[in-house]
Amino acid sequence: MAIAGNQDKFFDELETMAPEAREGYLNQRLCEAVDHAYRNAPATREIFDGAKVNPPEIHTIRDLERLPIIRKTDLIELQREKPPYGGFLAIPPEDVDRVFISPGPIYEPLHTGAIKWFAKSFCAAGFRKGDVVINTFTYHLSPAGILFHEALRDCGTTVVATGTGNTEIQIRTMRDLKVTGFVGTPSFLMTIIKRAEEMGHNFQRDFTLERAWFTGEMLPDSLRKTLEEDYQIATTQAYAVTEPGGAIAYECRQKSGMHLMDEYIVEIVDPETGKQLGPGEIGEIVVTPIHNKAWGIIRFGTGDMSSYTTALCPCGRTANRLTAILGRTGDAIKVRGMFVIAKQAEQAILDLKPISQFQIVIRRREQRDEMTLKIELKDETIDREKLADDLNKRFQNLCRVKIDRIEFVEKGSIPDEHQKLIDERTWK
Ligand SMILES: [Zn+2]
Repeated sequence: MAIAGNQDKFFDELETMAPEAREGYLNQRLCEAVDHAYRNAPATREIFDGAKVNPPEIHTIRDLERLPIIRKTDLIELQREKPPYGGFLAIPPEDVDRVFISPGPIYEPLHTGAIKWFAKSFCAAGFRKGDVVINTFTYHLSPAGILFHEALRDCGTTVVATGTGNTEIQIRTMRDLKVTGFVGTPSFLMTIIKRAEEMGHNFQRDFTLERAWFTGEMLPDSLRKTLEEDYQIATTQAYAVTEPGGAIAYECRQKSGMHLMDEYIVEIVDPETGKQLGPGEIGEIVVTPIHNKAWGIIRFGTGDMSSYTTALCPCGRTANRLTAILGRTGDAIKVRGMFVIAKQAEQAILDLKPISQFQIVIRRREQRDEMTLKIELKDETIDREKLADDLNKRFQNLCRVKIDRIEFVEKGSIPDEHQKLIDERTWK
C-alpha cells in the first residue's frame, strides 16, 4: 500500500536550524519565557527572589544553573497550598483552554497556541495523509490522548480515537478500517498482536499495520526487533513528560537517539547539585517549556536519567539527541563522578545468560570509590575468567564506569527481592 512520504520530510524549519542559530533562538526564547513567568506567575517570582536572581541575569541556558530545580513533589505540595496551580499560572485563568490532571493530583493548564509542535514527532516517524491511525492513549485526565490526536491530524492522518484497553475492539477496528498506524505503548501493541493471533488471525496477512509510534514505556531492543522483523512494522519512539506539558524528544527514522524539541530548554544535570553536564555524561533530564505561556515553570526535574549527543544525525535534523531513557534518579548512585543506574547495570549484566542474580556494592577505600559486583551463576561450570572479561567490557561500555572487583557468590546468597545497588560508603 502506497503512503506518500516514505522519504524523510521535516515538519518545520526549526528542525534543520544551524546549531549556532539554534543556540541564539533558544536563548532568546528562554529570556522571553523567564521574563513572562517572573512577571505573571507568583511562584516563579518567589523562586527567583529566593535564589537572588533577577530575570535579566538569565541570558543563556548556562545561567539556569543559578535556579533551583522544581520537582514533582514540590509541585504537588505547592498546588495543595495554593490551589489550583500552585502559583505557576502565568496567564489570566479565563484564557486557559484546557486543564489536564496528572496523578498527585497535579493540575496542568494549557494554552492551545502551544499544541502544533507535537506533529514533528509523527512526521519524523513517517505518518502522512492517507494513514489511518488508532490512538490508544487515554483521552481523559492526562494530556496524551487529545494532544497526540491533534498532532496526528496536523500530519494529515485520519485518527480513530480508540483510547486505552478494549483489545478486541481495537483488533476489529484495525481490520474494518484498514488501520495503517498505531500510537500507544509497545506492550499494548504486543498484546493486540498476540490476542489477534489467538483469535486465529495471521497478523501480517489480515492487517495493514505499517508503522507504530510509542511513548510512555521503554522500548526494549528485543521487542523492537520482533515488531520490525517478524511483523514488518516500522517503529519510532518519543520521550514525553506530562507535567511540563508534553513530548520533549523524538526519534527520526535513524532510530539512534531522540532529537530534542525546540519548544523546551532541556538540560542534563547532576541531580545532586543541579549543575549541567556535557555530552555523554549521564544525569537527570530537566525541562523548561518555552512555548506554553500558561505554565510559568522554569527548570522542572523529570526524575528521568539520560545523556545527550551533539553528533550530527544523517536525517538532516540538527538538534542534539537524548541517547535513551536509562532509569530514574532514585535508582542511581554516583560512582567516581558517573551515575550508575540500576536498570542500566541490569541490562549490562543480565544479558549475559550464565548470570542469574547480581548485586553491586560501592565502598570507599583510600579516598576512592570502589565498586564490587557480586554475581550468582546459573551454571557453575562456566569459564569464569572469560565471563568476567565480557562483564567488564559490557559494563564499562554501557555504564561508563569500571568494575573494580567481581565476586562469584554461592547460589541463594543474593535474595530474589534485593536492592541491586548498595552504597556502603562512609564519608569522613
Ligand atoms: Zn535524526
